[in-house]
Amino acid sequence: MTHYQPVNAMEYPRYSGIRTFMRLPHITDLGYVDIAIVGVPFDTGGTFRVGARFGPESIRNESMLLRPYNPALGVSVFEHCSCVDYGDLPTAPGYLPDSHQLIVEGVKQVLESSVTPIFLGGDHSVSLPILRAVAEKYGPVALVHFDSHSDLWHGYFGGKDTHGTPFRRALEENLIDVARSSQIGLRGSLYDEEDQQMSSTAGFHVVTGPELHARGIASTIAEVRARVGSGPAYLSFDIDFVDPAYAPGTGTPEVGGFTGAECQELVRGLIGINFIAFDLVEVMPAYDPASVTGLLAANLVYEFMSLVALQRRDALA
Ligand code: MN
Ligand code: MN
Repeated sequence: MTHYQPVNAMEYPRYSGIRTFMRLPHITDLGYVDIAIVGVPFDTGGTFRVGARFGPESIRNESMLLRPYNPALGVSVFEHCSCVDYGDLPTAPGYLPDSHQLIVEGVKQVLESSVTPIFLGGDHSVSLPILRAVAEKYGPVALVHFDSHSDLWHGYFGGKDTHGTPFRRALEENLIDVARSSQIGLRGSLYDEEDQQMSSTAGFHVVTGPELHARGIASTIAEVRARVGSGPAYLSFDIDFVDPAYAPGTGTPEVGGFTGAECQELVRGLIGINFIAFDLVEVMPAYDPASVTGLLAANLVYEFMSLVALQRRDALA
């Protein structure tokens, strides 16, 4: 006889759980699934504000209004893709190395299927364990990275892993193919002049925030696309790429950013790139009056899903 009771909060954090994206079914058997939404509610990598552990919950909440047909891309997402909400990966709040290991194992399980996962952070440190599992399956991937920050710092406070370091570690571990990778939107004050060169010195194609404003979206997209080529690519979207006027609910906001409409246009421009996984990180509902950040994040996730739907449609055509 089954005896039902609440889950053990010492094993599965109290804030983890089910509130599904677009009210998709919560399914963990990914046998017949094309797209899985996967929460990664972890923010122990935060160095300033924290609270991104509640990001997946906010994005799911704000996804309720989304409808299946994307007129901008001319695609009916669920016609071409079987989609589920996988729920949240297990984490151990307060324990970064342990959590990263749990995330690696969780992502590996997801990638045992042929699914394209979309991960909802969490702080940006979660991209590192995700990329560890991704690179194990696909080899080094092209990184298309939208962010105010390069997240290439060597370390903080004597340690190596924070939300400001994931791509430094990823480079060291050969998880990303830097020759096919771009960082877009970098801006804000730095510690010194050398910080400004960190991304190009590491080998990335860089389009800073001011450069993107000056050059425009179309030419930036063209550069990113030419760089990525046809191999496997990973899209990482830090919501602080957006101007704090449009996305105040984040950990390290930087003014001089981009509007929601510009974000949609940028993502839609990436149609046809061979994305094998996505993340959207650093949404912090505690700093998000009227949930505008969560709403924009949900809409960007929807654009990611639309890109995958178009891939699958065209693959079957
Ligand atoms: Mn970041
Ligand atoms: Mn950032």
